[in-house]
Amino acid sequence: MNKSNHEDLQDIISPDEIPFMHYGIINQYNYTKVTHVPIKRWDPLSYNPIILNESGDNVTLDKQYGHYSYISPIRGKRPKERKNTKVRKIEDSNELNNFQQLIDIFEPMVKGKHYISTDGKIYPAHTLIISEGNNPLDNPFSDQIKIYPNLKGLAFAMINKFPAMVRVIDQAIEPKIKKELYQLDSHARIAEGICFLTVPKYYHETIEDMTTEELREFFKTTQTAIKFCIEESVKKDIKIIPIAPFFNVGREVGGSLRRVHMQVYMDLTQDGHGSRLESTLKAFDYMNKTGECQLCQSKHGDGRRIILETDDWTVFATNSPIRNRHLRFAPKEHIEHIGQLQEKQFNSLAKILRIIFMVLDDLNVPASRNVIINTKPFGYKSFFHLFGDILPFEFVGGAEMADDMRVVRVSPNKFAKECQSIIKQKKYENIL
Ligand SMILES: [Zn+2]
Repeated sequence: MNKSNHEDLQDIISPDEIPFMHYGIINQYNYTKVTHVPIKRWDPLSYNPIILNESGDNVTLDKQYGHYSYISPIRGKRPKERKNTKVRKIEDSNELNNFQQLIDIFEPMVKGKHYISTDGKIYPAHTLIISEGNNPLDNPFSDQIKIYPNLKGLAFAMINKFPAMVRVIDQAIEPKIKKELYQLDSHARIAEGICFLTVPKYYHETIEDMTTEELREFFKTTQTAIKFCIEESVKKDIKIIPIAPFFNVGREVGGSLRRVHMQVYMDLTQDGHGSRLESTLKAFDYMNKTGECQLCQSKHGDGRRIILETDDWTVFATNSPIRNRHLRFAPKEHIEHIGQLQEKQFNSLAKILRIIFMVLDDLNVPASRNVIINTKPFGYKSFFHLFGDILPFEFVGGAEMADDMRVVRVSPNKFAKECQSIIKQKKYENIL
C-alpha cells in the first residue's frame, strides 16, 4: 500500500478536498446547495427584541433573546465509536507494521500519525489544533487541516469536524449563499460560529480518571483557545460572542465519543442569545442594582448545602435543581468570565471536580453527566459571576418541556448531607 491508494493519508488536506461543512468549512469546491447550510433559526413564538434605554430613548438592537435552533445536517454524520478495533499503526507511508489497538478517533490526532485497521479502514490524524496548554497554535479561522506530529502538551483544543455552526465561508460565494438562504427562509441566518473541543493527550473516559495536572492543563488549553478565538474574531469586527463551554460525559447526555472531552460553542452570529442566559443576565442585573452578588454572599443554607470548599471554589447543592442531584460550583473571587481564571484556580477546580465525580460515583449517581460552565459573553457589559453546573443524567418529562421548571424528588439538603458524609469518610487528602 502506498500513499496514492489513500489520498486521505496525505499530511495536509487541501481546501478542494475538504467535504462540505467538515470542520465548519464551506468553500467554492464543496458548496452544492443552500438546504445543507447550517442555519440559526429563532422561534417566532419565543422571540424578543432587545431594547436598550439610552438617555431616555429606547434603542431596538438587531439582537434578541428567546428560543433558537441550529439546524445543521452535518451533525448527523458524527462517528459512533467502536471499541477495541484491531488496527495497524502506520510508521511511515510505505510501511505498515507495529500492530496496536486503536482506542478512539482522537488517538491518531494527538499522536500526529494516521492509523489503518486490518480491514483497511483509515483513521486519519487530520485536524486543526488551535491551542496546547498556554500556547495558541493555528488560527481558529484556518482552513488548513493537517497532522500535528510534534505535540508535547497534556491537552489540545481542536476544531470540531462535524460542527453545529459554519466557521469558514468562502468570501467569493458568501453573498450568493446569503441570497439563496433569504429566498428559502427570510427569517433564517447562516449559523456562524466556532465549535471546538479539548481532548487530553492520554486516554481517559471520565473526569475522575484524569490526574489533577492533566485536568488543569485541559482547562488552561480551553481558556487559551477561547481567548485566541475572541482575538481573531475581533479582527473580523465581531463584537459580541456568547460562549458555552460544557462536558458531555457518557452516552446518555450526548457524549458520542469515548475519550473525555470538553466542548465550546462560540456563536459569532451576533444576533442575541437564548432565554436561559437572558434570565441569568437579568438576575445579575437585579443583584447589581441591589448592590449584592448572590454567589459572593450566599451561605448556601448556613453552610448546610456546601459540599466542598477550597481557598478558591465552593461547591454546593443548589436549592432549585435543574435535575435531581444538581450541584453548582463557583469561584470565591468575583470572576466574570473564564478568561479571568488563573492557573491556581484551574488547579483547584481540577481537584474539586475529580473529588465531586468520585463522590457521585460512590453515591451511585448515573455516570453520564453534563458539566456546564456559565461565563459572561464576550462584549457584554453585564454584571456576572462565573459558575458551573454538574447535572447527572435523567429522562425529563413533558412538564419540564413546558417551562423552565423541574420537579425533583431528591431534597438538596439531604443530597448535600450524603455528599458531605462521603467526603468526611474518604477525606481525599491525596488529592487536596
Ligand atoms: Zn460575585
